Amino acid sequence: MTAAPFPTLPCPDGRPLAVFDIDGVLADVRHRLHHLEARPQRWERFFSAADRDPLLPDGAERLRAALVDHDVIYLMGRPERNRRLTEGWLRRHGLPTQPLLMREDDDYRPARWMKREVLRTLAATRDIVSVLDDDPAVVQVLEADGWPVELATWLPHSSTLRRAQEDTGRT
Ligand SMILES: [Mg+2]
Repeated sequence: MTAAPFPTLPCPDGRPLAVFDIDGVLADVRHRLHHLEARPQRWERFFSAADRDPLLPDGAERLRAALVDHDVIYLMGRPERNRRLTEGWLRRHGLPTQPLLMREDDDYRPARWMKREVLRTLAATRDIVSVLDDDPAVVQVLEADGWPVELATWLPHSSTLRRAQEDTGRT
């Protein structure tokens, strides 16, 4: 990453920081996973269909609870070019739209490495007390890096779904 992707992160009153993923935590991505099952994968259609994601009640409840006494920041692997769509979705569901940290459009690293770098940078100025993500690979890396991360389990991650489908196909 060439430049800091989050130059304007507010640092208002030093409340502890809770970090929330969106896809699979707040947003139900299941209706668009078929774009990733296709060969070749249809990533742009996968992202643009996010407009129609249902809200996941478990994630929304956790977010509202966190907002009571935390600053909340979204950290997601969706590329920056989807920012307007993502903010519109958050607004429609009555959720805060900021701060929203997204992957740079030219950053093709797996989400786990991008997220680890962002957390390390955030930690220079903020006290990160919780991270919620639905991707087991992300959770594993962040946990190994010492972050208080929790795996969101109310929607199985797409990799888990895929494995389950493959397993089912074999039996
Ligand atoms: Mg996710």
